[in-house]
Amino acid sequence: MKVKNLIVGAGISGATLAYKIATELQEDVLIIDSKDHIGGNCYDYYNTDGICVHQYGTHIFHTNLKNVWDFVSQFTKWYPYMHKVKGFIDGQEVPIPFNLNSIYQVFPQTIAQTLEHKLIEKFGFNVKVPILELRKVGDEDLNFLADYIYEKVFLHYTLKQWGMKPEDLDPAVTGRVPVYISRDDRYFQDVYQGIPLHGYTAMFQKMLDSKLINVQLNTKFSDIRNDVSFERLFYTGPIDEFFDFELGALPYRSLKFDFVTFDTPYFQSNSVINYPNNYDFTRIGEYKYFLNDQSNKTVVSFEYPQSFEIGLNERYYPIVKDENQALYAKYLAKAQALHNVYFLGRLGDYKYYDMDKAINRALELFEKIKK
Ligand code: UDP
Repeated sequence: MKVKNLIVGAGISGATLAYKIATELQEDVLIIDSKDHIGGNCYDYYNTDGICVHQYGTHIFHTNLKNVWDFVSQFTKWYPYMHKVKGFIDGQEVPIPFNLNSIYQVFPQTIAQTLEHKLIEKFGFNVKVPILELRKVGDEDLNFLADYIYEKVFLHYTLKQWGMKPEDLDPAVTGRVPVYISRDDRYFQDVYQGIPLHGYTAMFQKMLDSKLINVQLNTKFSDIRNDVSFERLFYTGPIDEFFDFELGALPYRSLKFDFVTFDTPYFQSNSVINYPNNYDFTRIGEYKYFLNDQSNKTVVSFEYPQSFEIGLNERYYPIVKDENQALYAKYLAKAQALHNVYFLGRLGDYKYYDMDKAINRALELFEKIKK
């Protein structure tokens, strides 16, 4: 078999590239995926109760990149959902990122007022401060606050999620959820936020709906490597696997989801509730909130972090820390020596991309190769 473009992986990166190549270059694309569905870890489906379930955990689309928003909006209408997360802390459900409202919820008013004034005086209002930065402030009251938030929000959650303390990871990881000196309870402040009105899978189906795009599921690269000739290869799978792990395996974190249907209209008060300090799971997601699905039943997922082991579970997160970046850099050097082979996506770039950043990366790569 002969194709101009082979794309390995039908997730967000692969689907974006496939669409651009087919529509703008009018070239044929074979896109393969080892899974039995498109969409990668964004895959969702409607269950028999009419609830749209995200098979790989809650996915909320958010971006400040207008070009990315315009791009994906060609394939879907949006349910204009603004994500909020509650953390179960000291018996209460408080806004996460921990903000001024959270402070007033967990502390007596006089203490909360002092902390609010000091925070605003030190950092200003509407400012995001990573917890590891807040811990460096040399003020007794703010140290007390930083220690409280570190212990109650970050330490035990991060130990569960990564098997490591916050300070042993790249600061950008916990920096994703900074302390927010604001009354804004939303998880993201991006201009564009939403859930695809008919789900992510329908959005991907539209992206890949072209005579020039041939989708082959249940197919690994190794299954077809010797049978297909191609001019360009776009590889969104793990870069270390591509090179047969010859420099060693890049570490990943995995997740296990326990999905449970309850015979009640709602299980919890919010789409996502984090449990930093209780239980072995990190969070519970309740799916009907995302598209306001109406049903007398509800589906939730309990999310258990796990170490990634080849063949046993899936790669979800690259583990962002210096030594792993150094190993990735060696694989990248090997990749760059190849001709007409491109790596991208969370696994190909070994980067903790959000969905919008993965799309933007694919769009930028397309601009580069089309010349
Ligand atoms: N985090 C935490 N407590 C929380 C929420 C997040 O400690 O209640 C930390 C944790 O290390 C987590 C990171 O911040 O892995 C990033 O959180 P985010 O919600 O962005 O993770 P994702 O949704 O990508 O799994």
